[in-house]
Amino acid sequence: MSKVKNLKCVKCGSVYHEKDDLYVCPKCGIEGILDVVLDYDYIEKNISKKYLKENNDYSMWRYLPSIPIEDTSGIQPIKVGWTPLYKAERLSKNLKLPTIYIKDDTRNPTASLKDRASAVGVAKAIELGKKVMCAASTGNAASSLSGFAACAGIENYIFVPETAPEAKITQLLIYGSKVFLVKGTYDEAVDLCFEAAEKFGWYNRSCAINPYLVEGKKTVAYEICEQLNFNVPDIVVMAVGDGCSIAGAYKGFYECFRLGLTDKIPKMVGVQAEGSNPVTRAVESGKPVFDYKKPKTIADSISVGIPRNGIKAFNAIKESNGFMIDVSDDEILDAMRILARNTGVFGEPAGVTSFAGILKMKRLGILDDYESIATIVSGSGLKDIKSASLACPKGISVKPDINELYNIIQNLKEE
Ligand SMILES: *Cc1c(COP(=O)(O)O)cnc(C)c1O
Ligand SMILES: [Zn+2]
Repeated sequence: MSKVKNLKCVKCGSVYHEKDDLYVCPKCGIEGILDVVLDYDYIEKNISKKYLKENNDYSMWRYLPSIPIEDTSGIQPIKVGWTPLYKAERLSKNLKLPTIYIKDDTRNPTASLKDRASAVGVAKAIELGKKVMCAASTGNAASSLSGFAACAGIENYIFVPETAPEAKITQLLIYGSKVFLVKGTYDEAVDLCFEAAEKFGWYNRSCAINPYLVEGKKTVAYEICEQLNFNVPDIVVMAVGDGCSIAGAYKGFYECFRLGLTDKIPKMVGVQAEGSNPVTRAVESGKPVFDYKKPKTIADSISVGIPRNGIKAFNAIKESNGFMIDVSDDEILDAMRILARNTGVFGEPAGVTSFAGILKMKRLGILDDYESIATIVSGSGLKDIKSASLACPKGISVKPDINELYNIIQNLKEE
């Protein structure tokens, strides 16, 4: 028996066997992203509330029965998943928000949600006997692959736009990846990486085409369900770039429901930056068609011209009865400060874009319909302190002198 039935093209519906070793549907090309179709009747026998209660593996691998990895020898020891879920009571009170749960996915080994995908990508590479990996990334997918490949001792080549934040590039270098700083956009880095992967036979971790990555990202939804004692929130709000993350989370919520762990699927709400919103435009048009516009936003991790998992993201929004909303860069910076000051959770711009969406929905009166919200902080603020410094005041210079300090403090009080 196997967990996997087949791989299905999200565009034309053709099915393939796992052993065909494909990234995309040969008929549809790059738009023919494959979905791993799992055998839920089989999985249902191996995962239950009781099974989870007795499971003391507090990482994403507690959900192994529904993750399509057969050979567990490629699972790395660095701990990914089972990140904290906070009920943000002071935040709700101060901002008059409904009950809000914050999933802090900055608490992963390389400090972003991408680690859930890289953990699966690396395990799969080892299962398939691949010796060299590669990825194109706005930053986090790369630093994440880099960390897991370092742990596993796998050689890897990384393509990031040369404008990626310094901290993310430093992560790559310290982990020992071969790093190419592409003189161009993320979309151009993707193209170069894909050509290179084909030419040199590397195993490609790009979420754009590797169907297994969603299978890692879906664990974030399993965790939210389990941490809430299987009481699913009304809506789940997430930032959208390529769309792999929201598609993954939706699949996780769907599966929790399908496997009888929960009794509903939340509405999935995607948030994009105004200057990089192809998925919002597609959802508004009603068709999963994504026209290119040069992206421009401070939130580098979601600065994407062509969403590589756009169809999967589109389906997640539609099938869950959800919607998309856009926020400005200023709203993202405000959200970063407000979240940090009310919860102690510090996210990078893309990491707080989801929360910026919640604040916007509050202003628009859309939140009144919902009693509980969960949102995911998907990347750490320490990855991009240059942006964070735009969201807060500077420190105060002071001589080591108590009288000067006294005067400054008096002035502050009068302000
Ligand atoms: C990648 C990323 C996202 C968006 O995920 P997609 O799969 O590209 O939609 C959001 N936040 C952070 C911090 C990310 O790194
Ligand atoms: Zn196809």
